[in-house]
Amino acid sequence: MRLHAKLLLLLIPLVALPVAVLGWVSYVQQRDQLVEDARRDLETLLIQIEEQIEERLYSVQANTALFATSALLRRYLLEEDEATRFRLLQPGLIKLFASYQRAYPDYYEIRVLLTDGYEDTRVARAGLPNGSEEEADTPYFQALARAGEGTFTQLVINPDDGQPVLIASQPIRLIDPSVDPILARPVLRGYFVLTVSLQFLQQLVDGTRLGREGHAFFTDAAGRVLFAPALHGEHVGAAHNAVASHLDATIGAAHGHGPEFLMRDRRLHDDLYVHAMLPVAEIDDSTRRVALLAGALMVGATAVTAVLLYVALRSLLLNPLLRLRNAAREIGRGELVSNIGIAREDEIGELATAFEDMGEHLRRSHEQIAHLAYHDSLTGLPNRRLFGELLENAVAQARRRGVVVALLFLDMDDFKRVNDTLGHPVGDALLSEFAKRLSGVVRDSDLIARNSSGCENAVARLGGDEFIVLLPGLNSPLDAAIVAQRVLEHLDEPIVIGGHELPVRASIGITVFPNDGDTVEALIKSADIAMYHAKEQGKHHYAFYTGGMNAALVERMTLEADLRKALLRDEFVLYYQPQVDAWSGRILGVEALLRWTCPERGLVSPAEFIPLAEESGLIVPIGEWVLREACRQNRAWQDAGLAPITVSVNISSRQFNVAGFDPVIRGVLSAEGLDARYLDLELTETAIMRSPATTAQVLDALKALGATISMDDFGTGYSSLGLLKKLPIDRLKIDQSFVRDIAEDADDAAITATIIAMGRSLNLEVIAEGVETAEQLAFLREHGCQRFQGYLVSKPVPAADITALLQAGRFTLPRAGAAPQRLSG
Ligand code: C2E
Ligand code: MG
Ligand code: MG
Repeated sequence: MRLHAKLLLLLIPLVALPVAVLGWVSYVQQRDQLVEDARRDLETLLIQIEEQIEERLYSVQANTALFATSALLRRYLLEEDEATRFRLLQPGLIKLFASYQRAYPDYYEIRVLLTDGYEDTRVARAGLPNGSEEEADTPYFQALARAGEGTFTQLVINPDDGQPVLIASQPIRLIDPSVDPILARPVLRGYFVLTVSLQFLQQLVDGTRLGREGHAFFTDAAGRVLFAPALHGEHVGAAHNAVASHLDATIGAAHGHGPEFLMRDRRLHDDLYVHAMLPVAEIDDSTRRVALLAGALMVGATAVTAVLLYVALRSLLLNPLLRLRNAAREIGRGELVSNIGIAREDEIGELATAFEDMGEHLRRSHEQIAHLAYHDSLTGLPNRRLFGELLENAVAQARRRGVVVALLFLDMDDFKRVNDTLGHPVGDALLSEFAKRLSGVVRDSDLIARNSSGCENAVARLGGDEFIVLLPGLNSPLDAAIVAQRVLEHLDEPIVIGGHELPVRASIGITVFPNDGDTVEALIKSADIAMYHAKEQGKHHYAFYTGGMNAALVERMTLEADLRKALLRDEFVLYYQPQVDAWSGRILGVEALLRWTCPERGLVSPAEFIPLAEESGLIVPIGEWVLREACRQNRAWQDAGLAPITVSVNISSRQFNVAGFDPVIRGVLSAEGLDARYLDLELTETAIMRSPATTAQVLDALKALGATISMDDFGTGYSSLGLLKKLPIDRLKIDQSFVRDIAEDADDAAITATIIAMGRSLNLEVIAEGVETAEQLAFLREHGCQRFQGYLVSKPVPAADITALLQAGRFTLPRAGAAPQRLSG
């Protein structure tokens, strides 16, 4: 689920809940208030009605009391004589009563009752029948008689018309004037009775309204409805019925089968009750409206608050997060993100800054990686990959424009020697300087024939001491020769590094598109071949590629490739050639000679592959393998109980000059468990003479280990006597080229004799190699050569064959002066 949706899901309940609670509380309060208001309204209505009725009652009572004191009425009641009373006084009295009635039309019956209940005088509204004149038995009269003094009022149903009326009566007590006033006591003479219409109550209920259907009505004590508004509707009837059963409830809701009401009641008189009622449904309507309003407000408030919160969160959180996410994606794609666009002084702002910093670091790392992927770390020049792209581009351009692209393949002359003798740091410095100088020359536009391709000249390092120059857009292949010549001239000045003055020379192979190839690989390969050719021509030369070069060099290159694999595939074996005592024929040692059993080529002689292994540097690991294998084998012979002999191992100058050579020897000896004195190291004279000073140091170290040193191929190099004396050498090996012709060539014979004599005088053992005939052996013996090796006794043979020879321990040699005889070996 997206963050937006989650936020909304969280915000809406978060906002809705408090709003709902608030809304509910205010709704409840509002509803209670409405009910309270309705109750108060009912109460107020009742109070108003009560006040009006009290006022009426009071005026009725007051008038009753007043009318009862009328002088004419008193005289009438005191008159004993009936004739006088009825004839003289009653018409006046009736007139008086009629005047009262005119003044108070609702006093619709004014009567005088005698003490026995007889209706003596009566003035009534016209048309009102008179039910009886004897009232003594009526409950009203009996109550009146019991009431005593004062105005007595009672609500009754007028038997004459069945209407509820108020009857107010006043007992009239009079003192008989005929009696002595001192003794006289007031005596009850009769009652003045007013029958008051209650029709105003009907007007009252008709005129009062509460709400839509709220109203008041009157009942008697029995709950009979006396006055009620002319309403219809079942609930009104139901309410009125309910009143009958709940009359004593002062306030409350009347429950019936019909609707509910809120009610208030009041007793106005002994037999008159007023009730005010309001249908609960009406209050409910109002509360429903309130609820609807509150609900709408709640929904509105929730929506508005949620929207506002969402908008705020969006701008504060979501949008920055989106920006950060996009920035992270861009950074992930390695795109530059310099400004995420969040400028804030809070945690998100800090995060954005951290992202920007991270983007910047990553961008720099990307650039570095890209640079490393396409450039050589030592010289900073484009590497093979970048050069391939540049060349491809140049070839495409040249194809379109019909111009020539030339490649100069440079290989520094004798760089390996610098590396071997002065160490890698000096070699690296030389390569850097060489690169600078070469770039300088190539960049110098004067030197280059006009470049019309739009591509730049470029210099790249392919690896080791190999460089390549791209010359795009030449008009003629000869322009490339001009550049190559200028490069050779400019390089010629030696470079001084760490006090060493180093010659800077290179061989250049030139190849041209479209003549010599049309792919990047083909062009570089043919330039490489041309370079080898230039080297063979005598170094510090340039050579154009020609088709004929190919075969020999391709062979050489595949040989090199196969040689690389040979070590991994375990294709090397060691052959051993015995070295024997010239007089006794005893086997004193063996020389380990390397053989390569190549699956494609068969047994390859070291003369074929050792020079290549030396050039390519492969001789270092191969030589170490030879050393290890020879020591292992020698130790195995000793373990097999054979007489201990030395094993001579040929060491290449490249191996020898690698720093830390003596630790390698020491490591091998201890690993194979061979005593150092059974190891002899053969170094060629030329190798030793190349750098006598460093050689002396290494030889001293090797001597210190306990190994012996032989100078191989002696006579072919140019060692001085002085040097021979200084170097810790044990043995000289006369090169077989001298031995071969001793019998025929007087010079070789003289050289051999001199070498033997010199060795003896320097106290060095002399061993001859390549001894094939008894004459050669005889000559050597004659001049005092102690040892030899050669086909005369044995060719180099596999280890298994040597074991048998070692068991015999010696060869039978031709005796001195004996006829030439070839021995088997
Ligand atoms: P080298 O050290 O002077 O070895 C003597 C060479 O003379 C060997 O040739 C051997 O087979 C050959 N030889 C021995 N007796 C006779 C003989 O009576 N007549 C003739 N014609 N030749 C004889 P190989 O084995 O072909 O080795 C050639 C060279 O290759 C060696 O010359 C040595 O310089 C080099 N080499 C051989 N093995 C190794 C090695 O393990 N390491 C290094 N660095 N060089 C090696
Ligand atoms: Mg040798
Ligand atoms: Mg030799």
